[in-house]
Amino acid sequence: MPFLRYPPVVASPFSLDEQGQPKPTYPCPRPGCRREVPVRFKGFRVEHLKHVGWEAYRVESYVNWCGHKREVIPVPREDGLVAFVPALGEAR
Ligand SMILES: [Zn+2]
Repeated sequence: MPFLRYPPVVASPFSLDEQGQPKPTYPCPRPGCRREVPVRFKGFRVEHLKHVGWEAYRVESYVNWCGHKREVIPVPREDGLVAFVPALGEAR
């Protein structure tokens, strides 16, 4: 990937979507970090929730490749996709 901006010793933060394109990234919101992390939930559908053991309207968390935990609340939308609302009071 010509735009790889990370040392090769770091596990690739990129994942590919169904078309083999790198997923979009955003800067980690943790102050002092700002590393680019993948947007994980593009096209995430309601039926995917149970695949990952998550429940709608419950605070769920995941850890970005940079090691920072994020907490989100999955909210099903009418179109079958899931919106992820950042939980307030981010865990340390
Ligand atoms: Zn981070």
